[in-house]
Amino acid sequence: MIERLKQIPGMTLYPRSVRRVEGSTFFLAREVQKKFLGIMGNQKDFEGQMRGEILMCPLTANNAAVIRNRIPQLHPQPLGLSQSFGFGDRLGLATPGHILALQKSRAIAPIFAQQSMRENARTGRTPQEVLDDAMWGVFQEGWREPWGADADHLNHPDDIDHCVTAGYSFFTFDPGEFVDNTVEHDSLKTIQEKFRSLPWDIFKRSPREMEEAYVGQTVNLGSGFSMTFDLQTLLRAGCKYGHAIGQVVRMYRHLTRLTKNFELEISVDETETPTTIEEHYFIAAELKRLGVNWISLAPRYAGRFEKGVEYIGDLNKFEDDLKFHAAIARKIGPYKLSLHSGSDKFSIYPIFSNHTNGIAHLKTAGTSYLEALRVIAKLNPGLFRAIYSLAIERYPQDRSTYHVSADLSHAPKIDQFKVDELPRVLDDFHAREILHVTYGSALAQLKDKILASLSENESDYLRVLQEHFVKHLQSFTQGE
Ligand SMILES: [Zn+2]
Repeated sequence: MIERLKQIPGMTLYPRSVRRVEGSTFFLAREVQKKFLGIMGNQKDFEGQMRGEILMCPLTANNAAVIRNRIPQLHPQPLGLSQSFGFGDRLGLATPGHILALQKSRAIAPIFAQQSMRENARTGRTPQEVLDDAMWGVFQEGWREPWGADADHLNHPDDIDHCVTAGYSFFTFDPGEFVDNTVEHDSLKTIQEKFRSLPWDIFKRSPREMEEAYVGQTVNLGSGFSMTFDLQTLLRAGCKYGHAIGQVVRMYRHLTRLTKNFELEISVDETETPTTIEEHYFIAAELKRLGVNWISLAPRYAGRFEKGVEYIGDLNKFEDDLKFHAAIARKIGPYKLSLHSGSDKFSIYPIFSNHTNGIAHLKTAGTSYLEALRVIAKLNPGLFRAIYSLAIERYPQDRSTYHVSADLSHAPKIDQFKVDELPRVLDDFHAREILHVTYGSALAQLKDKILASLSENESDYLRVLQEHFVKHLQSFTQGE
């Protein structure tokens, strides 16, 4: 069958996509730069044009929904506690490259669709489009194992509805705006007042009962780890995270009314100050007591997790804290510890994997975009120069919601690069961060050109992605 399909003139077949299901044949192919779904056999409910015996279907939302019902593996699904890796893809073209990398490394459960509302706004894509793009990638490469779809960094109950409808399997709640970062500097008197105004109806406890449950208690975490709460520690943890816990409970109730088939991550990784061991314990113990069930949790770790670059901070301190975080996750869960802004942090992957025993999740997103730019820098230098100057211009505004420290005065002067040196710009710390956070501006002005360049050079893009992620996956799975 594959040989026969390859013979059809003007059409390039993706051979790993060919599937026979209940007597029908499905495949993905492209004509010029456009991909389409081909079907022979039962073509019911699909929309397309007949050519000979083949129905040629555009990759629309309707056709995506119909094929998901015919091929159940195209539905994202919960992945449980297995070690997992989140591949965000802002352009919607990268999933096949992610799959090629997975096929070259040790087993790890993938999340192929992963996008926050902030990224959706900046890329002009809907949650459904993000999921469908990943699904077509799954289909193209014939991926048969379970895969997940992460509705990332949801802040409000309203965000949840669209993502449930679209079929997401993994929900990341980020109650960051409810975290009180000022607590660290507050006087004891202020903290006592703040503590009294926590959402006690949600906690189903009085302030006094909360104090009795924690103060003076030594918590044995196993593996030789323990911690003791004094009154100040409890009050500070309660004030810093109490409203955030309330928001998670409200969002959880909303989500469980809509679906039962999901897994949940709780993330407080974007707060100003690190999550202490006691704070992590408090968040987890309270959420568990309140009936929230989650599969992974992302504290804000010590050190700096900037976008698309190595970890910046004290590795020994990171490791000491991580052992404690992992002990808490084993004791109260087990649940996975999650690492956000996780791309390019090669120095910490083995440590992370090791101390969590692989009960761990890693999220990357913008690094696939940077690899796309590496391909464009090589094959379409004019376009790359345009993207780079736009990035320089937009960086002061676009950086505001991201953890980055790149300095424009240290950014490479691209005019001084010869054409064949341009891809090296992507190895520079400042350039990486500047390009990383300005993707929204680049897409707003140059989306069609960027997508066209990558489509024309698909095999180069996929190969570059494969190389980049094999490095990540090998390092992240090596600690076990
Ligand atoms: Zn995050």
